[in-house]
Amino acid sequence: MTDRKDEIAANLAKVERRIADACTAAGRARDEVTLIVVTKTYPASDVRILAGLGVRHVAENRDQDAAPKAEACSDLPLTWHFVGQLQTNKVRSVAGYADFVQSVDRSRLVSALSKEAVRAGRELGCLLQVALDAGESGRGERGGTGPGGIGELADLVAGAPGLRLDGLMTVAPLTGEYAGREQAAFERLMVLSTDLRRSHPAATMVSAGMSTDLEQAVTAGATHVRVGSAVLGVRPRLG
Ligand SMILES: *Cc1c(COP(=O)(O)O)cnc(C)c1O
Repeated sequence: MTDRKDEIAANLAKVERRIADACTAAGRARDEVTLIVVTKTYPASDVRILAGLGVRHVAENRDQDAAPKAEACSDLPLTWHFVGQLQTNKVRSVAGYADFVQSVDRSRLVSALSKEAVRAGRELGCLLQVALDAGESGRGERGGTGPGGIGELADLVAGAPGLRLDGLMTVAPLTGEYAGREQAAFERLMVLSTDLRRSHPAATMVSAGMSTDLEQAVTAGATHVRVGSAVLGVRPRLG
């Protein structure tokens, strides 16, 4: 346990340094960027270590793993983000522990989240997941709505009881015009965020950047980076 704590602490310090350096290079204040540690595939004991090291935001992408982990860590001062593709039959469970759902990408999901948030007596922060590999109106290979779907979904979330529209999220695409162009992809997300904030000024969160491309996200203006393997190690299986 102590070895693991040392390992995580060292990795976390490196990631913190990378974020700080990227902020400096971009002329941004360090507190404009929030680190979310993606704990998928790693045990609750790691989440506990992270909390002890001062991490306050964690993310998961599968309800089956996330639900018991969140339960085991419910005594910790953590904010839980759900970042995976979400089936409507998992929404009741997710609404019980998630503070933010970053993968809102279709109207059926909005109505299901609203219903379950109200039932649980909770308010869920929602980010619309934008697919930049999908064309204007398509859907991404790994979830997400094309940019053309943002306006309608945003209005739906904003009008849904139990939900709060907080911003946009993306994953750098592996295919399409932005493949291998993370910086350009994140800049495009920023433009979409600026558009969104004209009609929804409180939707200020921009979640972009992972272990390999967090610098490009910070440079583009992301407010949240989601970092897994650089903190916890390379995952044994695809999560
Ligand atoms: C796994 C995951 C991350 C973190 O990826 P790393 O490469 O491990 O940093 C970020 N966002 C989402 C949506 C993920 O599924």
